[in-house]
Amino acid sequence: MSASQPSPIPLRTEEWRLPKENGPRLRTLLGRAFRRVCPYCGQSKLFKRWFNMNDQCPHCGVIYNREDGYFLGAFALNLVVAEFIGMGAVIILLIRSNLSILQQEAIAIGVAVLLPLLFYPFSRTLWMTIDLFFDKELTRQHVTGSKMWNKK
Ligand SMILES: [Zn+2]
Repeated sequence: MSASQPSPIPLRTEEWRLPKENGPRLRTLLGRAFRRVCPYCGQSKLFKRWFNMNDQCPHCGVIYNREDGYFLGAFALNLVVAEFIGMGAVIILLIRSNLSILQQEAIAIGVAVLLPLLFYPFSRTLWMTIDLFFDKELTRQHVTGSKMWNKK
């Protein structure tokens, strides 16, 4: 769903439970990110399947894709994390193992391919964590896109 389509689930901001203080807010958001639940209310799952994210929270009605390109940061986060861990594994293998070059390359390629797939949902939830940690003033218009809620 893009931000311009009408919302089938009404927005219920009164269901949002996010502390304003930095420490509790970060702990709450990280807990929800690793459980892969709605970062706003913590009540419903973000993903239908591993790669298939809900468009909107069935409990509080927030639209997750706040604007076009919102999750580009998640792709960058996924790439950076996966490549750092993958490169770290390769460097450790080069220095400390007695494996052949072919075996090391097979492991490195496996890590480079599998890690971004395994980290994919967490890259999205952690991206939303970063966003919501710094955006403490959650207004209805800001979170739901610019025009769709104002047309009613
Ligand atoms: Zn929610």
